[in-house]
Amino acid sequence: MIAPDRKSASDLLQAMVEESRRMVAFTGAGISTESGIPDFRSPGGLWTKNRPIEFSDFIRSKEMRDEAWRRKFAMEDSFRNAKPGRGHRALASLLQRGKLSAVITQNIDNLHQVSGIPSNRVIELHGNGSYATCLDCGNRYELEWVKERFDKSNGSAPDCADCAGPVKSATISFGQAMPEEPMRLAEIETLAADLFISIGSSLVVWPAAGFPLRAKRNGAKLVILNREPTDLDDAADLVIREDIGDVLEVFLDS
Ligand code: NAD
Ligand code: ZN
Repeated sequence: MIAPDRKSASDLLQAMVEESRRMVAFTGAGISTESGIPDFRSPGGLWTKNRPIEFSDFIRSKEMRDEAWRRKFAMEDSFRNAKPGRGHRALASLLQRGKLSAVITQNIDNLHQVSGIPSNRVIELHGNGSYATCLDCGNRYELEWVKERFDKSNGSAPDCADCAGPVKSATISFGQAMPEEPMRLAEIETLAADLFISIGSSLVVWPAAGFPLRAKRNGAKLVILNREPTDLDDAADLVIREDIGDVLEVFLDS
């Protein structure tokens, strides 16, 4: 059912949370718009400005690597200054109360961890944009290391200092293989949940969008909280088309 208004949405959701013994949240870019990080698909979102760079193009072309880092540094201030919003904080308090088992996230902004959720309870399906790695040897590089070289060379993406491999933000691009361990953990959490709530995701990016369906088919209750309709709304027990922070703030510690 679609919640008729915000008050009923909060009431229905609270009742489901009370009843649940093991809840999992699945989050997308929409939970971070309140923190000033634009999503992909809202009007004015990143998608409408720049099509994402495919993994194969990043590997193949030096110009694309330069462009990827140019875009990354252009966005960096809004990421670095972002603070967790009400949605992030509500999930942190549900975890502290022992209600929430894990957050499976498509986000790369590190805000669930900043809100106080331990790293081993945040399953990052699309990596983390707060550092970089060499795609060949796996060396980790801090963004400052990349920035310094990028600036000194007039915007040329640096290669790995050890093996000369391509250095990429530690995020998963379109066309790049999904990370094995997070996928495995996400599956375990999904199948153990009795309540699965998708928050701020358009649910069009696969295979990530498969998790809400898996949970539902496995017998969990499915809630979709997103201000726009999604393709999976018909499968959900409860659809809430409201602002995330407004709905979730009932779960904040008073
Ligand atoms: P998306 O942009 O496709 O969808 C976000 C959805 O959230 C939209 O349907 C929008 O209507 C909704 N939304 C935005 N703000 C909202 C609010 N305050 N209340 C209620 N709904 C709101 O995002 P996605 O499904 O996560 O897929 C985008 C991909 O891009 C992901 O794979 C992710 O890795 C990446 N991404 C990440 C970030 C981030 O880390 N914050 C930002 C942009 C994109
Ligand atoms: Zn290397």
